[in-house]
Amino acid sequence: MKRLPDKRGRFGSYGGMFVPETIMAALDELKEAYAEALKDRSFRDELAGALRDYAGRPTPLYLAENLSGKVGKGSVYLKREDLCHTGAHKINNCLGQILLARRMGKERIIAETGAGQHGVATATVAARFGMECVIYMGEEDMERQALNVFRMRLLGAEVRPVKSGSMTLKDAINEAMRDWVTNVSTTHYVLGSVAGPHPYPRIVRDFQRVIGREARAQILRAEGRLPDLLVACVGGGSNATGLFHPFLGDDDVRMIGVEAGGLGLDSGRHAARFHSGSIGILHGALTYVLQDGDGQITRTHSVSAGLDYPGVGPEHSYFREAGRVRYESVTDAEAVAAFEFLAEAEGILPALETAHAIAFVLYHLDERERDSLIIINLSGRGDKDMEIVRKWKETGEQDKRQV
Ligand SMILES: *Cc1c(COP(=O)(O)O)cnc(C)c1O
Repeated sequence: MKRLPDKRGRFGSYGGMFVPETIMAALDELKEAYAEALKDRSFRDELAGALRDYAGRPTPLYLAENLSGKVGKGSVYLKREDLCHTGAHKINNCLGQILLARRMGKERIIAETGAGQHGVATATVAARFGMECVIYMGEEDMERQALNVFRMRLLGAEVRPVKSGSMTLKDAINEAMRDWVTNVSTTHYVLGSVAGPHPYPRIVRDFQRVIGREARAQILRAEGRLPDLLVACVGGGSNATGLFHPFLGDDDVRMIGVEAGGLGLDSGRHAARFHSGSIGILHGALTYVLQDGDGQITRTHSVSAGLDYPGVGPEHSYFREAGRVRYESVTDAEAVAAFEFLAEAEGILPALETAHAIAFVLYHLDERERDSLIIINLSGRGDKDMEIVRKWKETGEQDKRQV
């Protein structure tokens, strides 16, 4: 399997740069700057220092004994990305990209956000480095996530409402792209996952690989061997790729990515791109997308906002085609049950996104897998989701589709 995208920015047949000419120049500039930065020792040292002193790395690899006992005769470890500053893995990527932007002499940062998590992480790092920051957010999402809007404003960011389309994440990405093209000489666009046109999927993946690099060394120290199984949730796919990538060459390490099954795969209300999606183009990349017969992007649903995206990162489409990673899904109900389970069993509230990975391990592993050595990526903490879980528990089946 190839680790680097080819000249056209493809992982196998997926990925690429399906963008207007005007964006092409900005992407090329970014690609060059990144290649230069990679070769520069002082850039790598600066990033490592920021990850350590500002984000709180390395994050622990925690043996979850109570969870393990419930799963089987093996051991389940949690990679604690929830302990990063701002509560999730997203800051790894934000630090990398904003340090890169500084090298490029950019003084203005823009980003898109759905539920607000990537917006908060970006606004946080922009504040730290004294950069102007504009976050694009769908108007509907702004209403649903009023507290995160307030948080971003406290951090000094301007939050711009997006009123086009479905007024959610995919429209916010379009708007951010438009801003970027207009202001590219001063502005860097911090894309939040391993999605979008080349070189973003590769850059974001590289900045998230620190998760898997640490986990690999930590499990070797703790158990003296590699894990049998890695499990992570997949929205765009950055926390999953981040964990999986450093283990790709270890043929005996199996990997499972868990998508949002929403109200059930037959309900049509989910975000399981690999179950019901087909190959198409979204945000400049060729990948699996949820779309109708005319190529119109269909509306997705998940109880966890971070998994509620109609396209999956192109490298995941490549992993799936190569048979290297298996993709499964769990429902909203299973994710909420796993959220409650982990809170009671381990004293850890996982993000609802993360709860999908926990749910798959709790409810769907086969017998052999249950007794094996497992690492789950605990991508984020669940404080942000308490209100959603409270509402979920209070509402009847009919109303759950609104939660
Ligand atoms: C954003 C988010 C995700 C989903 O994004 P990926 O790019 O698929 O990792 C998962 N977990 C948490 C906690 C998030 O905030």
